[in-house]
Amino acid sequence: MNTILYDVIIIGGGPAGYTAALYCGRAAMKTLLLEKYVPGGQMVTTEHIDNYPGFPEGVDGVTLAMNMQKQAERFQIEHKTEEIVSVKIEGLVKEVTVANGTTYTSRAIIVATGASPRELGLEEERALRGKGVSYCATCDGAFFRNKTVVVIGGGDTAAADAVFLSKLCKRVYIIHRRNILRAAAIYYDVLKQAENVTFVWDSTVEEILHEQTVSGVKVKNKNTGEVTTIECQGIFVAVGNVPNTDLLKGQLELDGNGYVVADESTKSSQLGVFVAGDVRTKPLRQVVTAVADGAVAAYMAEEYIQLQLTDSE
Ligand code: NAP
Repeated sequence: MNTILYDVIIIGGGPAGYTAALYCGRAAMKTLLLEKYVPGGQMVTTEHIDNYPGFPEGVDGVTLAMNMQKQAERFQIEHKTEEIVSVKIEGLVKEVTVANGTTYTSRAIIVATGASPRELGLEEERALRGKGVSYCATCDGAFFRNKTVVVIGGGDTAAADAVFLSKLCKRVYIIHRRNILRAAAIYYDVLKQAENVTFVWDSTVEEILHEQTVSGVKVKNKNTGEVTTIECQGIFVAVGNVPNTDLLKGQLELDGNGYVVADESTKSSQLGVFVAGDVRTKPLRQVVTAVADGAVAAYMAEEYIQLQLTDSE
């Protein structure tokens, strides 16, 4: 057991987590931010962010993440890279235990665990991860320079991935289950004009073809039932996200899709636990809405702690 009682433990180091840390630090709350890998969350898998205000030419996700971390750390927050194995959120003192057995305690918790890419659920999809199947174009795109790849999905991630890959790859097929993208129109305009991008509408991937590595996909047209083969060396899966709530199951109210139920106040079903960013129920999941949540969660945590301290006097 670590003997320090923190005011706030922030779980997750994406834009919501680091903004919460910035606000907690500025409010002079004793703050610990725990993250599993590197700062930035899903932001670091985004090559170019064009819709975060303040950057007239856009900004790359890694730079934005590093800047958010540096900015928060100016205000004496502690940051540790740890895998959390369990969380106890009931009662006035919350407990967070990490893989090496250390337990950290705090008065309040801000959950900013974000979301992870959803899998297609195809046979051998997991086994071929790193052997042609990827969930991150900016991380893995360079391995497919001058090769043929497919991008599966029709949202902003799929469209942004396809734009990025079209600059590197010989050909990019976008396979989408409908005949219209969900993504912002700006992406469609760019992709339509790219000579090496082909849309495969109303279609789903039925099978991944492979030897040691990916060699193609079998694609079924939903309208005609026809199954065709597209030869490719890479498959970029971009079919949405699943919230990272495993640690919290059974302890916080979740909606039908597994997101933690919390409104704009970021208050969860548990007193003293606030939820910020993509892991929360909300209509728009973007960096800009995640940072807004982080600020609100810190503010709410401060108010909650003040009330607790006043009540105990
Ligand atoms: P998303 O918006 O949920 O889109 C997922 C896409 O995958 C949809 O087109 C969906 O089809 C399709 N899909 C879902 N399940 C599928 C399945 N089992 N098989 C085949 N296709 C499937 O997810 P996202 O694109 O990852 O975006 C997540 C959030 O991040 C969004 O809020 C998005 O705006 C944001 N984001 C923003 C940017 C940006 O603004 N630059 C970049 C990346 C992400 P349907 O369309 O038919 O539902």
